Amino acid sequence: MIEKSGFYMNNRVARYMISSLQDLMGENGLNAVLRHGGLPDYQTILPPDDMLREFDFSDYGAICTALAETYGPRGAKAFLIRAGRAGFLNGIQSFLDNYGASLEATGKLVPLRIKLPLFLRWIAKNYSETSDRIVRIKDQGDHYLYINERCPVCWGRRATQLDCHITLGFLLEATGFISNGARFDIRQISSIGMGDASCDFVVPKRPIPT
Ligand SMILES: [Zn+2]
Repeated sequence: MIEKSGFYMNNRVARYMISSLQDLMGENGLNAVLRHGGLPDYQTILPPDDMLREFDFSDYGAICTALAETYGPRGAKAFLIRAGRAGFLNGIQSFLDNYGASLEATGKLVPLRIKLPLFLRWIAKNYSETSDRIVRIKDQGDHYLYINERCPVCWGRRATQLDCHITLGFLLEATGFISNGARFDIRQISSIGMGDASCDFVVPKRPIPT
């Protein structure tokens, strides 16, 4: 069992992640994963649907580890990308409640080069304000860097590959949302679990040409 981190996600984000995994693999499948990770079963670990910061990073990381050990890196990747996408879709409503007015200002007429960085910065701000994650965005010329300096996926883990897939799935869905359905070639390039200072993702400024 990994020692508790003392850093917390809000319950709602953790709940979306866990209930998405339950949708994807069924309650028995998820319980097998949780048991493997030495975690409580689905009904017990599922946090309430509120914004209190109570879900410890170490439990979040332990779920990701147990998933990789149960389904292998490729299987876990498929599940976590889908859970990340679902997490964005589930969370977008409360997100819009917080940032809706400004988001409206970035409607269809506003070019992507303006609304993409705004949206990425809102996401970073939102995550940093509603959890103990530390996220910032850096403009790198032809791309943005999404920098996660305190990553729940990596908490207490030694990773052998770039595998913060739930963040990748979230960013894929978020960039699709803000661009009216375009696809972006987003890549993770560093990982705290592999010894880097932060978990960084390259978000190109332009989508994949169609
Ligand atoms: Zn990470």
